[in-house]
Amino acid sequence: MELPETILAAIKQFSKLPGVGEKSAMRQILALTNWKISDLAQFGRAIEQLGALSRCRRCGFFAEEDKCTICKSEVRINAKSICVVESITDFLAIERSNQFHGSYFILGGVLNPLLGVGPQELKTERLLKCVLEEEVGEIILALNPSVEGDATCSYLKSVFPQEIRVERIGFGIPIGSNLDYLDPMTITKALENKRPM
Ligand SMILES: [Zn+2]
Repeated sequence: MELPETILAAIKQFSKLPGVGEKSAMRQILALTNWKISDLAQFGRAIEQLGALSRCRRCGFFAEEDKCTICKSEVRINAKSICVVESITDFLAIERSNQFHGSYFILGGVLNPLLGVGPQELKTERLLKCVLEEEVGEIILALNPSVEGDATCSYLKSVFPQEIRVERIGFGIPIGSNLDYLDPMTITKALENKRPM
């Protein structure tokens, strides 16, 4: 028994989402087939508009103008402390903990030679430029603990000038976990226990 091509095509798109397998994609799409056409159109438009979002040219977060609200804040920039994260979800997780008062840089991933992710893909040059221009004194590497995360931290440590303090969050974060799924208390502990690299 084959499903109509329209449904198969929608399942294919849906299963591209992180954490969504083919089975759960099918369940969601079949549920959507019961929606009114006007609701489906609204759903489609909301997704389409995501493509028009603009990013902060300094840190990579979403921004209405050329910079996001954090990068526009003098207090946050004057803290001279940059927290380097892998993704927007990690950025939000740390921001939710309310323990960090500097600014951020979103790498967009970690080094992964097998997947062709090198320093250029991670915009490390832009990060270094930002660190030098703003005379940043402290860099906190809030990368998830993994082989790639560790390698990325070592690489970043090697490109920053030696007089800059480079620390990495560590204790309190379970191996193989993702910052996004941790509660604010665990993140607070991890920030408290950051250590020099
Ligand atoms: Zn920004």
